[in-house]
Amino acid sequence: MLDRPSIATPLTPPPDLEREIAPDAQLAIPWSFVSLPESGAAARFELASLGEPQATGSIGASSEPAPAPAAQAPTLPKRSAAMMDEVDDYLWEVYQRAPTKRDGSGDFTWKDPAAAKRMGMSMPTYVIGGMDPDFREQLYHAGRAMDAAGIRWSLLSAFRDDYRQSLASGLHASASNSLHGGKARTGGYGHGQAVDVTGTDNDNASAVWRWIDAHGAKFGLHRPMPGYDPAHVQPKGSWHKLAATLRETRSRLTQEASAAPANTTAR
Ligand SMILES: [Zn+2]
Repeated sequence: MLDRPSIATPLTPPPDLEREIAPDAQLAIPWSFVSLPESGAAARFELASLGEPQATGSIGASSEPAPAPAAQAPTLPKRSAAMMDEVDDYLWEVYQRAPTKRDGSGDFTWKDPAAAKRMGMSMPTYVIGGMDPDFREQLYHAGRAMDAAGIRWSLLSAFRDDYRQSLASGLHASASNSLHGGKARTGGYGHGQAVDVTGTDNDNASAVWRWIDAHGAKFGLHRPMPGYDPAHVQPKGSWHKLAATLRETRSRLTQEASAAPANTTAR
């Protein structure tokens, strides 16, 4: 513990070390973003999004033709869409585990609701649904593994559209260039591929980060900037392929679980 921990060491960084990072980083941020919201984007997304059902588990019953407007989230087959409910419900529950969103630059709890409202979306639809489905799949499996290991984790931030990104303080990419869902970088809503992770009490974040460093690779996840932006987690390698495998496994287990009681009673 003599030196500042280097990349991927399992040492615990002193909490105040992390807190000192953001103010420094903040100096480098041109605040001019704040006056440059991407107007028009909200109106384009709003109609399609309002037509989406909430994640109640009842998706898939309707005979409505699936609209596939341009510049919309990737369209999944119906069964996959229904299967995503389990993932989305879980990740939304995880997000809510730390109801106050706070980092070295202060309390930013208000920002996600403001951005969701601007797009005419519910919070879960915005924060969770804005992420790439494959990335959500990875987070689901890693998250369940963390839960099982007793690591109390939560999400400080997930999807961020350009407007939300313009509200971000501390170290962050420019408005449209963020992996959290910047329009230019990722394609925007439905394509977010970064989260900021923390602990449920905002004081056990380093345990979460250590877990990601030790086990994240198994789920195609890593922390690319442990020193400057320790909470930031993004996918790595051939993550779409890995996510497909993870989803198949989940699908098979779900089917087995639902088939088992039926077989028993049939005999
Ligand atoms: Zn981030």
